Amino acid sequence: MPELPEVQTIVSDLNRKIKGQKIVGFWTDWPKLVKLPNPSDFKKKIKGLRIEKVERIGKNIVFFLSNNKALLIHQKMTGHLMVGKWRIHKGKVETTENGPFKERVNKYIHALFSLESGKMIALSDMRKFARIALGEREKILKLKDITQLGPDALDPKLTFGEFSRRIKARHKSIKLTLMDPGVVAGIGNIYADDILWSAKVHPLRKANAIKEKELRAIFKYTRIVLKKAVRLRGTSVGDYRDTAGERGMYGKVLLAYRRTGEPCKRCGTPIRRTRAGQRSAHFCPHCQKL
Ligand SMILES: [Zn+2]
Repeated sequence: MPELPEVQTIVSDLNRKIKGQKIVGFWTDWPKLVKLPNPSDFKKKIKGLRIEKVERIGKNIVFFLSNNKALLIHQKMTGHLMVGKWRIHKGKVETTENGPFKERVNKYIHALFSLESGKMIALSDMRKFARIALGEREKILKLKDITQLGPDALDPKLTFGEFSRRIKARHKSIKLTLMDPGVVAGIGNIYADDILWSAKVHPLRKANAIKEKELRAIFKYTRIVLKKAVRLRGTSVGDYRDTAGERGMYGKVLLAYRRTGEPCKRCGTPIRRTRAGQRSAHFCPHCQKL
């Protein structure tokens, strides 16, 4: 699933590429992805609205539109937004450009927003779990997707005191706690592994039993790892691509995630994979003790 760095990359791209443009049309072959309002009203209501700015709230992408409206897109597991040109030929979406849009992961297009410039915003989503909602800003910002979020992992106002209080209130493993968007928003599977490796904390340690010194390291590396991943435009080990359909570069510098059997970058011990609930966790058995 796209995490904070991937969603931030898309949001920054969108602001650079399509801010200020008017939406002139909408197409989908998967009406279920539209949660608000009903899909036929959606098409009528989105038309003519201008994109004032795009913001990331947790892993949600929020388009602030004219007439006090907002459009929320959650990309979920495999969704990613791209900006380019496509056409619909015999009910199928085809790219009219050469290059990355021809890659398989970029061809599961289930929604297209046409813009006044002739460009389009496309949602490619193999698993079709992404969701879209349009409404008054106030209503959209009150959706559970947003109100249930804890503070953003990169919010400069998030203090260590608040961070540690939230972590210590949980009884699950530290890995699952970091990934819980109600605790801190933005961290998923990839970055939780790399943050815990950096902080030398075993992913299965209980959150409420982590020592102050270790929590300080987790807090510090949360920012370091996420900021580095934003700079490198995210990780594309799965379906994630940026708005040009290109891969992020963090995949080349992963510290623990998906490095099973490869030497720890600190001590050379092979990285191991274990399970944390339904999720995997990668760690160094020498540097990260239970
Ligand atoms: Zn190690």
